[in-house]
Amino acid sequence: MPRRELPPTAGLPFEPGDFLPGPANLARRVATTLHLPPLQLECSGTASLLLALHTLQRLAPQRRVVVVPAYTCPLVAIAVHRLGLELRLCDLRPGHYDMDPQALADACREDTLAVLPTHLAGRVADVDSAMEAATRHGAWVIEDAAQALGARDRGRSVGLRGHLGFFSLAAGKGLSIYEGGLLVTRDRALREALRQTSAASVPRRPGWELRRSLELLGLAALYRPLGLRPAYGAPLRRALRRGDPAAAVGDIFPDTIPLHRVGRWRQAVGARAAMRLPAFLDTTRTQARERAERLRRIDGVHVFGDPPEAEGTWPVLWLRLPDEARRDAALRELWQAGLGVSRLFVHALPDYPYLADRVPRADVPHARDLAARTLTLGNSAWLDEEAFEAICAVLERMLA
Ligand SMILES: *Cc1c(COP(=O)(O)O)cnc(C)c1O
Repeated sequence: MPRRELPPTAGLPFEPGDFLPGPANLARRVATTLHLPPLQLECSGTASLLLALHTLQRLAPQRRVVVVPAYTCPLVAIAVHRLGLELRLCDLRPGHYDMDPQALADACREDTLAVLPTHLAGRVADVDSAMEAATRHGAWVIEDAAQALGARDRGRSVGLRGHLGFFSLAAGKGLSIYEGGLLVTRDRALREALRQTSAASVPRRPGWELRRSLELLGLAALYRPLGLRPAYGAPLRRALRRGDPAAAVGDIFPDTIPLHRVGRWRQAVGARAAMRLPAFLDTTRTQARERAERLRRIDGVHVFGDPPEAEGTWPVLWLRLPDEARRDAALRELWQAGLGVSRLFVHALPDYPYLADRVPRADVPHARDLAARTLTLGNSAWLDEEAFEAICAVLERMLA
């Protein structure tokens, strides 16, 4: 058994100086760094989505349906349900993470409140098709950029082609304050409406903030190969032993979505770390590009990249294999090897038993196929050449 455990996603490492008190200017710092309009800081990506949907609900109370890709984070389904809105699943393009444009056009109707193109795994999604389908029926487009802070599309940050967007600052999603979210919109009126929703519905809750502050300290202490072994590796192995892959990747979320203000100290920590974000994104991008090239030389490996003129972020390299049997064979050797190999989401949304009361039954073969054939390689700096080559060797053997 290895004693080290590499993280499944590349998080921006902390430095001791990050933890000194300082100005609470996280949203402003991220906006300046990434050339974004003013951002609204919330306590999680899910809370950001909740507030965005609630704002749109106030503007168009007769619209009740939210269209989401059938393969995405379960928290999206939980947020939609929490507001009493209806989820409508859109299947994907075959073999791809984007919603199928024809399915998308069919899913958007007069009852549609919002459509959520999703920049999964740092990859840049097709927002234009969503805008076309949504605006035809007067619906809004919310870019789910939870996994893509720093990604760019045609020269601008993601989150600006749709009407709104949100980023996550959760543990494991690049820049992190353990839990946090940022809302963005290029529309001034919408920005003001979001601010009002937040002011009216998000309380200060010192107990939650204290808890998140301690969790942030824990994350910083353990976010290294020796700390991740007990903190991430041990629960992962326990979950896999009892045959529960959804728990292993952390796909099982509680029903409640905490809503509270992010305190000064966590903001100061995030703001300091944010100054290193551009350099971190460059380094991880360079490493990912080289490794994607190496992986693409293995017959049968597809590495997801970005559309032309887009430059995503690289928390992971996201790989699609020819079939489920070989993907599973690769995971049997790699998932518990301590090398940061994992899966994105284990299932398409209709296939999580715990979400059965919140997700409609739907025939979404392409979403299921993506869940069945993909795996991720964590793109942290700790994955050195030797470890990366060991992963390549397993894939070569599986696919020979
Ligand atoms: C993580 C995630 C969210 C929710 O963000 P949190 O900050 O964890 O609440 C939403 N959508 C996607 C695609 C995600 O990966």
